Amino acid sequence: MPEPSPSTRRDFLTGRAIRSESMNGQNNPAEEAVSILSVPSRGPTILLRTVAMACDFDVMLNPEGPTVQLEAASESLDLVQHLEQTLSIYRDDAHLAQVNRSAAESPIEIEPDLYTLLDQAEQIRHATDGAFDPTAGALVLLWRRCRRENRIPTTNEIETTLALTGGQHLDFDRSRRTVHFDRFGVQLDLGAIGKGYAVDRAGEHLTTKGVVNWLVHGGRSSVRSQGKHAGNDGWPVGLRNPLLPDRPFATFLLRDAALSTSGTAAQWFRHQGKRFGHILDPRTGWPVETMLSVSVIAPDAALADALSTAFFVLGVEKARRCCDTFPHVSAIFFPPPRRGRVLEPLLHNVPAGCLFVNDIH
Ligand code: ADP
Ligand code: MG
Repeated sequence: MPEPSPSTRRDFLTGRAIRSESMNGQNNPAEEAVSILSVPSRGPTILLRTVAMACDFDVMLNPEGPTVQLEAASESLDLVQHLEQTLSIYRDDAHLAQVNRSAAESPIEIEPDLYTLLDQAEQIRHATDGAFDPTAGALVLLWRRCRRENRIPTTNEIETTLALTGGQHLDFDRSRRTVHFDRFGVQLDLGAIGKGYAVDRAGEHLTTKGVVNWLVHGGRSSVRSQGKHAGNDGWPVGLRNPLLPDRPFATFLLRDAALSTSGTAAQWFRHQGKRFGHILDPRTGWPVETMLSVSVIAPDAALADALSTAFFVLGVEKARRCCDTFPHVSAIFFPPPRRGRVLEPLLHNVPAGCLFVNDIH
């Protein structure tokens, strides 16, 4: 990235370069939401980790917490392992993989976790106008195959696969708790919400066991926290620079909420000079690159996870409107910077005093 000009740098430091407009026309001055003074930092923590869903799941605890917290954390990570066995489509013996294999033949009764998550996923599909869609599985598989074959799908392949995508192909019977596909080839994929759900379940287990202060991280993209840490009124969470993913860009003080980030910096392929990421628009069948990344703050991590994917698909303006339909949801958009300018995040409904800038590059 080019060096920011001194004036741009100063604007950013005073918060002026962070644009923050709400859809109801009121200005929500960025200075209220952003601070560069006293960036909150992490103190000592106890960390427990497991590998699941192709990423690290971490539980972080305050060292001074109750002795029961270690056992509770270990149990919560076991829960994550169990959820992978339920929600994965990449393990043949996983429950969801079995559902995908047989739900076109007859209605399949589904396990409580899959039921709860699919129910939430379906509600989010409706609310996001299909930008997030759990039935995008066939499209995801098509693009994964093409990536391996170093090609992009043909128009015919996209059209055929689009005919297997969308809620109309899913008969989700809430009274019988069954799932039935209306044709062969329909596939559920909960990859854009499952990590968030696992974070929620792990955190809820800690709370049930009496742990008051905790943070659970699912991969690098979904995190939820409860209570306080190291003298902070919440848990400090790093927001990465989508152009330089190893550099922390800002710190968000997460207070009894979840934060999830979607972007294509880590997962994409190039074909004939064009970049194709792993987030698809289920309505067109094509990967989208509307912005560099988007982070969503929501009451639970499944919602944050699904909405960050949906907002990435919708682009900034539609995502802002969609965001306003959810209570207690806010977003930080990272559009590509204009030529020669620094990265300028756009804040939407971000509560005051939560975001601390620690890097302007
Ligand atoms: P990450 O897994 O990197 O945290 P996301 O939460 O955005 O990223 O989820 C992306 C995954 O979700 C993809 O790998 C794919 O399996 C699936 N997916 C891609 N686009 C969509 C979409 N529009 N709706 C639902 N699932 C999607
Ligand atoms: Mg997601």
